[in-house]
Amino acid sequence: MIPSILPTYSRAPLKFVKGEGSWLIEEDGRRFLDMGSGIAVTLLGHANPILVDALTSQANSLWHVSNLYEIPGQVELADRLVEATFADTVFFTNSGTEACELAVKMARKYHYEKGQPERLEIIAFEGCFHGRSSAAIAASGAEKMVKGFGPLLPGFLQVPFGDIDAVRAGMTEASAAVIVEPLQGEGGIVPLPDASLKALRQLCDDAGVLLILDEVQCGMGRTGTLFAHERAGIAPDIMMVAKGIGGGFPLGAVLATEDAASGMTVGTHGSTYGGSPLAMAIGNAVMKTVADKTFLEDVNRKAGMLRQKLEGLVAEHPDVFEGVRGEGLMLGIKCKMPNADVVNAGFDAGVITVPAGDNVVRLLPALTISDEEIAEAMARLDKAATAAKAA
Ligand SMILES: *Cc1c(COP(=O)(O)O)cnc(C)c1O
Repeated sequence: MIPSILPTYSRAPLKFVKGEGSWLIEEDGRRFLDMGSGIAVTLLGHANPILVDALTSQANSLWHVSNLYEIPGQVELADRLVEATFADTVFFTNSGTEACELAVKMARKYHYEKGQPERLEIIAFEGCFHGRSSAAIAASGAEKMVKGFGPLLPGFLQVPFGDIDAVRAGMTEASAAVIVEPLQGEGGIVPLPDASLKALRQLCDDAGVLLILDEVQCGMGRTGTLFAHERAGIAPDIMMVAKGIGGGFPLGAVLATEDAASGMTVGTHGSTYGGSPLAMAIGNAVMKTVADKTFLEDVNRKAGMLRQKLEGLVAEHPDVFEGVRGEGLMLGIKCKMPNADVVNAGFDAGVITVPAGDNVVRLLPALTISDEEIAEAMARLDKAATAAKAA
């Protein structure tokens, strides 16, 4: 008999009832160090008092009004994002998938309005993840995501990740945009080198093609800069944000330059919930905290420490681990044994990690994790690796 919850997930037998900073707690009081953050979502830890305060005080005054009216906090958060990034304008969504939908629509509408309606093809990379909508799965092209779901949305091309020559070869008069994660998350924490990001920017400029960056997972300070692309000294035309920006409340955004957004006029897009007063209260509190030099400096310091300890862990367990990759507090350990075994051994040792593609175990802790918690996470991962090897 089908369970009452549609069985699209294979769930671990864990039932958390409370969160405190970097900790998740089960009913019986068992505490787990959370190095997954609900897949890079709880950016500032669980039940962060700043966010609890922002949410509850907003909840006491106004939950929802339509985007037909001015929404408290929206201009403030949009201004903050515009101030801190390449962008001139922002649209708020509830998720990364919805941000992907708008990014694709915006890119196609841009060319349409510029008199080139034939430019509708989006070039994406193998191993990418942009969400689960028809457009996002078509961008991925992966069989496990698209098979059985009917006609694939046309206008997407996949090239090998980071292969700039393949992008160049794939660009035609029908190209609208290139979409890429500066650091692939689901694909297995695979960084796109700075030189490749710069080369992509140049290719797009030369061909009159828009560059869409998906920073849903790697953005919001996770890699040590507010957004991951900053380290390459380039800027996209359109950027997708979600996950961390809501700190656990559903919130996403599409950021764009004035030119890239020029086709999106009144009536061309909308959302019932996007940019709600509750989401804006949280988003403003998250941005205020993260878009701060000293906060990001501390993220970088802790990231260096975590990286060093992880390299040590890998060296201690050469039969279990192959190497560490990633940036900032978005790190992956490539495994020699099945990554699921390592993740499960972690549950037994009281540490939560997340599996990713390419047999990688992901570490995406809250940016507020303490030095002591990093040390404790390493002790627990060490225990997990020993147990996984013995099993
Ligand atoms: C999670 C994710 C998405 C999809 O976001 P949802 O909020 O799950 O719809 C898109 N892109 C990347 C890079 C992601 O990590």
